[in-house]
Amino acid sequence: MKVTEHIKRANGKTLFSIEILPPLKGQDVNCTFKTLDPLVELKPAFIDVTYHREEFIYKEREKGLLKRYQVRKRPGTVAICAAIQNHYKIDAIPHLICGGFTKEDTEDALIDFNFLGIDNVLALRGDPIKSEKTFVPKIDGHAYASELIEQISSLNKGKYLDEDLQEPHKMDFCIGVAGYPEKHFESPNLAMDMHYLKKKVELGAEYIVTQMFFDNQKYFDFVKKCREMDINVPIIPGIKPLTTLNQLTSIPQHFYIDLPEDLSNEVMKAKTKEAIKEVGMEWCINQCKELIDFGIPSLHFYTMSNSANTKRIAEAVF
Ligand code: FAD
Repeated sequence: MKVTEHIKRANGKTLFSIEILPPLKGQDVNCTFKTLDPLVELKPAFIDVTYHREEFIYKEREKGLLKRYQVRKRPGTVAICAAIQNHYKIDAIPHLICGGFTKEDTEDALIDFNFLGIDNVLALRGDPIKSEKTFVPKIDGHAYASELIEQISSLNKGKYLDEDLQEPHKMDFCIGVAGYPEKHFESPNLAMDMHYLKKKVELGAEYIVTQMFFDNQKYFDFVKKCREMDINVPIIPGIKPLTTLNQLTSIPQHFYIDLPEDLSNEVMKAKTKEAIKEVGMEWCINQCKELIDFGIPSLHFYTMSNSANTKRIAEAVF
């Protein structure tokens, strides 16, 4: 079922949904089931599965030479989605990125999703790979998520790359996109970022999932601005608890977001690892309660494959 249909059927009640990572190469599908089993008890409406593109590693060879290898540490997004749908009968949403894909690759991936009975897709650009300073699309690939959305929307109208196909099957994907309450890191300002967000919606995106944030006011302001700009699709907040001291610096560094002063002060006052985790968990629980009161469509947890934290928070707020 489409995410938009889940939201409609909930009739104003906040849904519970999660994002997981596919297993690391070398692990098996039971790792995913082990993460999901405790969370499935809480009846998530849908489960997102992230996409991880290739990266390059260098290994030392004889005479000090370095050899470059291409690796994908977490392959299997589509197969994990299929496994989730088969095993739990819960809608799984593959993330699909522009990076590393030609338009032909994208079309083939979407055909796979369609054959597997996947109704939703989160359309993203992807980050630059580690060896690139800026995002470089594949030759004949997409440079922005908006172009990817255009391609998915075309397939929804039965328009494939090969225009000579006879009466091709029309797909029917519900398309989600990313939104950034604290702006995307490459954008010169929030207004310009939101201009492109609006474009993604005009091209066919039916809902937005936000980057994580730790200050609800940022989300409230973002929703207000979206509505003022006539972006009227559901805006699902992405949530993650801060649980370690290291995350005080790693979260802003990786996700380009600010942490509120009150939160960082409380974390600095905490004396032990356990106390720091308690501060972060309590903060997240309070955030979630306030978001539910605001009337959000779904609380969407970035589990990072840690089911215990997500379960505790969801049990405290639902
Ligand atoms: P876009 O919407 O294309 O925007 C990228 C930048 O370009 C922005 O600064 C935007 O303002 C600007 N822009 C957009 N369109 C145009 C245009 N036409 N002309 C000029 N500028 C433009 N990454 C992964 O690799 N795998 C994942 O599974 C994954 N999941 C994610 C899930 C969520 C909910 C979020 C929030 C992010 C996720 N990411 C993932 C990270 C995401 O790929 C990066 O943040 C990436 O840098 C931007 O992706 P986007 O889809 O927002 O890009």
